[in-house]
Amino acid sequence: MAGCVGCGQCREVCPSLPYGGSDPMAVMNGEDGNVLSCMGCGRCSSTCGFTDPHRVMMYMKHRESGASVPDSFLRSGFVMPVADHPSRGELSPEWRGDDVLLMAGCTVECRLPFLKHAGAKALEAIGIACGDLPGSSCCMFPVPLRGLTEGERDSYKQRMGRSAGGKGIVTLCPGCSHELSESGVRAENIVHTLSRNTYRISGLNRLSLKVAIQPGCRDDVTVEDIKSIVLATGASYSGNSTGCCGKTIKGISEVLMKERQREMEGADAVVVACPSCFSRYDSATDGVPVLHVSELVALAYGDRSTLKYHMIPPDF
Ligand code: SF4
Ligand code: SF4
Repeated sequence: MAGCVGCGQCREVCPSLPYGGSDPMAVMNGEDGNVLSCMGCGRCSSTCGFTDPHRVMMYMKHRESGASVPDSFLRSGFVMPVADHPSRGELSPEWRGDDVLLMAGCTVECRLPFLKHAGAKALEAIGIACGDLPGSSCCMFPVPLRGLTEGERDSYKQRMGRSAGGKGIVTLCPGCSHELSESGVRAENIVHTLSRNTYRISGLNRLSLKVAIQPGCRDDVTVEDIKSIVLATGASYSGNSTGCCGKTIKGISEVLMKERQREMEGADAVVVACPSCFSRYDSATDGVPVLHVSELVALAYGDRSTLKYHMIPPDF
């Protein structure tokens, strides 16, 4: 792979730079590019035809932040502590079989466990019996795990692939499927599983909703993929513009979230693919209610049991 040629394309697409955030071209050229304000969205690498600035940003951010491998990872395999949540014990996923195995990922497992139930229901709705991926852990994407060698990170991913025992892995987070696939582990995001089965979704209850769509960072999950699912449920699409939720980068996330909320005015809800986006939208001040794409399909299947755990209560 060639090095950076200084074309500046990554600067054009970086959502952080216009707000005084990170400058991937500067970092690639050994200058101070405010790497700590990088949100890890990957847009720089999606647009760069020469090298992989996203990977460099992640490693530089790890170095500059001084992050070490968290204790929670050593204890549980997840990069954040498993938080108490009212849905634990109240709402367990109904595992129906092992056509595919569901991988929750850190955000769902630790912060939004009710989305596992929604994921299992959405798959059941399209006739797929799923089970829990045994020994599931972090996908190894997060910055604090960049202190491990590539070989060590790869071995965790390979272990998850082996524990699937030849079954396909379906993820609730597009980042997880992308990361596993990079190591040759067969995994797909639930958006793709559902969008292949829209003919089954269109046989469920019809939803009378107008929704916005925010596909998140990974360009392997598109607005069109999610839109096909939305339309199959009978819901309409608001046609909103899309962008970065801002993650938790101080001084940048607030302004990006305001931008997103303005774009979604008039929608009953925003449909997201990424659990981290879910958390951000669900904690936005005066924000529109959020639905993970699996909840949208579960809703059309007649299951609204996860909605009571939202911070912004859906009023539909
Ligand atoms: S990292 Fe890639 S897109 Fe960015 S300036 Fe260098 S060559 Fe261009
Ligand atoms: S990963 Fe995203 S936020 Fe970070 S430099 Fe690249 S485009 Fe900017």
